[in-house]
Amino acid sequence: PSAKPVVIIVAALVPSLGIGNKGTMPWRLRREMKYFREVTSGNNDGSSNTNAVIMGRKTWESIPEKFRPLPGRRNMVLSRSYPDGDVQHTKNPHHHQATTTTATTTTLFNSVESAIAYCDQSVDINTIYIIGGAEIYNQAVNNQRVRQILLTEINSDQPVEMDTFLEFKLDNHEWIKQNRQRLREVVGHHVELPQEEILENGFRYNFTLWERK
Ligand code: NDP
Repeated sequence: PSAKPVVIIVAALVPSLGIGNKGTMPWRLRREMKYFREVTSGNNDGSSNTNAVIMGRKTWESIPEKFRPLPGRRNMVLSRSYPDGDVQHTKNPHHHQATTTTATTTTLFNSVESAIAYCDQSVDINTIYIIGGAEIYNQAVNNQRVRQILLTEINSDQPVEMDTFLEFKLDNHEWIKQNRQRLREVVGHHVELPQEEILENGFRYNFTLWERK
């Protein structure tokens, strides 16, 4: 088993890097959700392998019950009170069509490192995505296994109510913002990448890629 890519994927308001409010997202952006689904579900190599999504317990709870576990991805939830590597089978009445166990299984871990180590050992897992929330992102950014950040940069002309923020800066000391061609390479051809800024619900946003120097 070899070390797999570990990628942070996050949508944040710029420049404050706010990402949440009262346990949910400060916005509802349909095309952003579609991008997230395409990036994290898709596989680049044409194999039947799946990707893993690692998230904190609070982000897990913020996903409406009928949408979790996220289908087609290995869901890994972090809590300090979970037994490491415990597997939970979640019956999701909305996943009638599920033919694999990936849609109904959630694996619980009590550290970011052990979730990554588990993924490294699983031959059927490709890319490991860190999908939030703030507490998990703020730790993961210091983990040297994380080499890439897929950041949706959101702009708003109106004030946005937020209480949860990324605590790191993306500047050119440690992270380099890559061009669209490199973003395309990283997300794969199955992902719809618009040419221009997207306008939705009063927000303007762009999909960007940052790589560790
Ligand atoms: P998190 O989702 O980061 O979950 C925090 C919990 O994760 C902790 O309470 C703890 O669970 C567990 N945890 C944290 N660190 C570790 C560790 N090292 N090992 C084991 N378990 C750990 O919560 P936040 O409140 O920080 O973020 C949630 C907010 O972020 C929401 O508002 C959500 O909507 C938003 N969000 C935004 C995203 C975006 O892209 N804009 C994406 C995802 C979330 P326990 O207490 O059980 O021990």
